[in-house]
Amino acid sequence: MTPRRGTRVALLADLREAASSCRECPLGARATQTVWGEGPVNSPLMLVGEQPGDREDLAGRPFVGPAGTLLDRALERLGWTRERLYVTNAVKHFKYELRGKRRMHKSPGQLELLACHHWLEGEIEAVRPQAAVALGSTAARALMGRPVKVLSERGRWLVREDGLRVLVTLHPSALLRGDPASRERDFEAWLADLEQATAAASSAEASPAPTKAAARSRSRSGPDGARSPKPPPGT
Ligand code: SF4
Repeated sequence: MTPRRGTRVALLADLREAASSCRECPLGARATQTVWGEGPVNSPLMLVGEQPGDREDLAGRPFVGPAGTLLDRALERLGWTRERLYVTNAVKHFKYELRGKRRMHKSPGQLELLACHHWLEGEIEAVRPQAAVALGSTAARALMGRPVKVLSERGRWLVREDGLRVLVTLHPSALLRGDPASRERDFEAWLADLEQATAAASSAEASPAPTKAAARSRSRSGPDGARSPKPPPGT
């Protein structure tokens, strides 16, 4: 039986509360706070980034820095708002190295990704999106459980063992770091990737029929509605 929405809201709240004190890898002790995902529990589309940055770590919210501003610009062009999406990260604490007083972003390692994996799967279990977008290679690896070459796979749909469709594209930070001369062209290409995902989510929202992913999800659910977890990345 698929859990009722109220049950899923409670599940998400319980997970968030538990993750707020997580110390399952060393990142929890160094960062300011856990940055949990944001968005409605019945969102048709989940966007997954890598990890919170400096601004997100301080604010306790995902995608509030420059990358988030670029994401909002893209969503506006696509006629979507952040409020319709569930936005989260593969790793919930900010990893950084100090250079003087500045905290410089450092990519999470495989052990940190593995340790944090169950939190992301918990969010997927609660939200049950119709589709997901992997923003960058860390997110793609976390969602698919294997390394994904983003540059060759971008704009393509991948399908997880549980039936969830995942569109792979760049992280907005990659666009911000890119060649300024091609920034607008790169933005338009990124927008085209994202448009596939928003279009798929919109059509799933409009269709009353259960999607293949939802049907498969139910078939994999246990008596309490719990879905079989996806293997952790790299296994
Ligand atoms: S990064 Fe993830 S696994 Fe590591 S302490 Fe934070 S919430 Fe826990």
